[in-house]
Amino acid sequence: ASRNPLIDEQISSPLQVFGQAKKQINNIFVDIQDYVTDASERMIDVNKICPDVIVENELKSILDYRSKVKGICEVLTRDHMKVAFFGRTSNGKSTVVNAMLGEKVLPSGIGHTTNCFLQVEGSQTGDAYLVTEGSNEKQNVESVTHLAHALNYEKQLNEKELVHVYWPKDKCSLLRDDVALVDSPGVDVTPHLDDWIDAHCIDADVFVLVANAESTLMVTEKNFFHKVSTKLSKPNIFILNNRWDASANEPEFLDQFNSQEQVRKQHMERATDFLVKELKVCTPEEAVSRIFFISAKEVLQARVKERNGQALNSGALAEGFSARYMEFEEFERRFEECISKSAIKTKFLNHSQQGKQLVKEMYKIMETIYNRSQEQTHSKMCQKKEFQEKLNFTEQQLICITNQMKMKIHQMVDDVEDKVSKALND
Ligand code: GDP
Repeated sequence: ASRNPLIDEQISSPLQVFGQAKKQINNIFVDIQDYVTDASERMIDVNKICPDVIVENELKSILDYRSKVKGICEVLTRDHMKVAFFGRTSNGKSTVVNAMLGEKVLPSGIGHTTNCFLQVEGSQTGDAYLVTEGSNEKQNVESVTHLAHALNYEKQLNEKELVHVYWPKDKCSLLRDDVALVDSPGVDVTPHLDDWIDAHCIDADVFVLVANAESTLMVTEKNFFHKVSTKLSKPNIFILNNRWDASANEPEFLDQFNSQEQVRKQHMERATDFLVKELKVCTPEEAVSRIFFISAKEVLQARVKERNGQALNSGALAEGFSARYMEFEEFERRFEECISKSAIKTKFLNHSQQGKQLVKEMYKIMETIYNRSQEQTHSKMCQKKEFQEKLNFTEQQLICITNQMKMKIHQMVDDVEDKVSKALND
């Protein structure tokens, strides 16, 4: 109870709840590890002195628990929240990832089509580097251009492969709080959606569909999420209608009959129907906080400016920038709440159940060993008592015999004395 960081420490973002929960469950597993190590060492000692108290299987189970707990502790330190971005090529997936990171990490735009899965996560060392699938080699990444070049250079990469991009944690709060962001090739470029889902999506806590606000949702995009929801029960899906800045300023897109509000309403209705009626992943009320109209490009530009010491809204800005920027921030808030909650449930619930089961099983073994040792002590005490009684009886017998013999010897001596004195007299 003294270790309740949820009460002890201040939390400024929902993401930190995940960090605190991770810290807490880590501490619990450190305690379990101490307990299992202590118990197994004692068992080994007892087994040396009294080999018949512990059965071989019990000793083996306890040693197995020790390595199991060690394994869970290792998985725990690697646990993170995972968000995966999907959508058609050029809808702005890489730009959304960069906007959330607050800087240009992933290459985006013409000529930089993401042709494999890219997972951006915090680097423990503070260096930026990438690691391709099946390799341990850390390739240094100094800049986006460098990263783009490294990805192009890896010609053998195919769309199913995953490249890990490790980026300094201090550069971005999402990475500091253990969020991994996965960018994907466009859903329009592959017939292997099932393989993708199995390889990269099963453990995602949140999915973000990056759609193009200038067109309606495409069958390929819908198809992908239909497949995801057959494999995962109620996946958390956000829909970002990206390029909202462009649609706002497109005369062909908007005419006198179609104000931006009307377009928004239409998109909203269709996206809500998709989430609520087709996928059945949320209620109409929840859908309101799952569908957003944003401009990732504007947010990224603004944040890069801010990083360089300029005002967020400096320079030439398209009409409605502030509203779009605020909507992006609202998306981030909802996203943070959702991913933190979901990851705590999916990742730590499983670990805590495993931990509970393990301690229970271990307690049962220790109890069996304790009961057996009690039984053995009792039976030895009974044997001792029986032996003591026999000893007392024998002692009594001996005393009797000795006394009888003493008497007999006295008699014999008297007899002999009598006989001798009689013989002398004669
Ligand atoms: P991806 O293939 O889905 O990863 O798309 P990218 O992120 O590479 O973006 C494709 C192009 O669209 C790039 O040139 C971006 O600058 C541009 N883009 C991305 N988001 C926006 C946006 O919100 N508004 C506008 N106008 N352009 C965008």
